[in-house]
Amino acid sequence: MTDSFDVLNVYLTVDTEIWCDGWSNIDAKFPGAFQKYIYGKTGNGDYGLPFQLQLLKEHGLTAVFFVEPLFATRFGLDALQEIVGLINEYGQSIELHLHTEWIDEARQPVFSHIKEKREHIKNFNQSEQCDLIALGKDLLDQAGCKSINAFRAGSFGANDDTLAAVAHNQINIDASYNYCMDDCEISVFDDIQQAVPFGEIIEAPMTTFIDGLQRRRHVQLTACSFAELKSSMQQAQRQARNAYVFLSHSAELLKPGINKYDRIAVRRFEKLCSFLADNNNMFKTCSFENMQIESGRNKPVPVQIGRLPTIQRYCEQSLRHVF
Ligand SMILES: [Zn+2]
Repeated sequence: MTDSFDVLNVYLTVDTEIWCDGWSNIDAKFPGAFQKYIYGKTGNGDYGLPFQLQLLKEHGLTAVFFVEPLFATRFGLDALQEIVGLINEYGQSIELHLHTEWIDEARQPVFSHIKEKREHIKNFNQSEQCDLIALGKDLLDQAGCKSINAFRAGSFGANDDTLAAVAHNQINIDASYNYCMDDCEISVFDDIQQAVPFGEIIEAPMTTFIDGLQRRRHVQLTACSFAELKSSMQQAQRQARNAYVFLSHSAELLKPGINKYDRIAVRRFEKLCSFLADNNNMFKTCSFENMQIESGRNKPVPVQIGRLPTIQRYCEQSLRHVF
């Protein structure tokens, strides 16, 4: 493809979810888990949703918060309402994310015939997937989120039935396709690099790139150096792609397993926000509301990153264990 001055639509997606770090004693663990995974509480500051929402606001950026609501079938709507309220307060958009691991933990059984834990939505048949997405929409609706435009399966664990279930629930966009994740079993797409129409819906796949060591990676905050993110965005813009989908999480800025924030990840997020704000003539951060794509665009190839940005990642990742 030739160089283009098209503005690249960047979707900063933040999977917003709560984990009790195991499934035993979850009622006792939930209040602490909520503080950790939503507020990002650490021994040296809070780096969860309010921190991220404020940083986005200061840079005038739009993000998409994929909120996981199924935990409310166990713990009630209050915590979910608090999450929706926080995001609404900052005027950012909310979409639907489902981790079906919660289904067997519900106070009122969701399916009378299912008692065991099923990790992914693809582990349910198409009719059950329709019901699960409807349940998630309903919970978000009850929590104050009236409009859902997009869906992402937890851990990208979707299959072709998921696309039908998304369409069945009048959700326009699926964001579950991820070439890098073995758990993703959507077979109707072949390594797509930008949004494509599929029946009544649009698939907005995770953006991936080939790193300096010839390995494929998806664009996630803690999985790439800033240089890799920047280079992949610039190349996607030159390819005139219709979408660049980036992944982060509500607790992405915390170090796993310990009560500390991740300095390198925070710095990387700040650099990303500054870069997008400073280059808003080339990159436009978007929500999925009213997403439209042109049909008949060329199929772009995966972008190739040079060695230096990947070496930077290796250096940064080893520093993350130190600081
Ligand atoms: Zn998730």
